[in-house]
Amino acid sequence: MTSEYPHPNAPAETPSTDVADSRALRPADDRKVPSDSQPLRLTGVTKQYATGIGTVTALSNVDFGVNAGEVVAIVGPSGSGKSTMLNVLGLLDEPTAGSVLLHGDPVAGLTERERTDTRRETIGFVFQDFHLIPSLTAVENVRLPTAFLPGDATPRAVDLLTRVGLGDRLDHTPNELSGGQKQRVAIARSLINQPAVLLADEPTGNLDTETGIEVLEEIRRIADTGVGVVAVTHDDLVTEFADRTVELVDGVLTDA
Ligand code: ADP
Ligand code: MG
Repeated sequence: MTSEYPHPNAPAETPSTDVADSRALRPADDRKVPSDSQPLRLTGVTKQYATGIGTVTALSNVDFGVNAGEVVAIVGPSGSGKSTMLNVLGLLDEPTAGSVLLHGDPVAGLTERERTDTRRETIGFVFQDFHLIPSLTAVENVRLPTAFLPGDATPRAVDLLTRVGLGDRLDHTPNELSGGQKQRVAIARSLINQPAVLLADEPTGNLDTETGIEVLEEIRRIADTGVGVVAVTHDDLVTEFADRTVELVDGVLTDA
């Protein structure tokens, strides 16, 4: 997934505050949102890989959706399909059967180019090992996904870094930052194009407990602006913190 960066991203048309406002009007315990209000959804998704020794079913008839403003943790043993599910959710991989729906619309009809654009406009990614460019400063890393777009994203990058508590580290390179600071730079970068969904692969995997909590608090603040967050994790901290946890076992998804 490293090759996905830099992302020439177009800013989303709708400020995420609209989503946050509509969410605030719902009762806090109301999870029965109309399904097409879910920014990202899988219905009946199966993913199979052909290998030398036969077919591997990595995902089996998975139904899953994330709501705006919600943090969902995906857990499961190694090889259970977590990375595959995140790749399908992130439009990086296509299902063998079933549908991926963005705001209720199937992405299957999109061309490769449209899929790439849609991904850049809709989905932010955060990785266990940060995926920052070592030679670039924090601001340069954060604005990188806008490199091929008109306009200067520096003010927005500064604003995002300030929001994640790094207003005094703007010109630091990754080797001048702690692990938690690096992950906060990566989170700021993931938000530069105002995504509806944030996908995180072991976001606390390389962090100590205290720093992990700080990063999770950051993720909560992002969800509170209306972003739907899906995090693959082995970390009990993340599942304690999530609104909801689902479990994959041999490609089959169940509520945990
Ligand atoms: P997890 O992230 O939970 O460890 P993965 O999604 O990486 O699991 O893998 C799920 C299953 O699919 C495993 O059996 C794995 O070996 C298989 N798999 C994943 N990617 C491929 C691939 N590109 N080709 C063949 N098999 C794959
Ligand atoms: Mg994996």
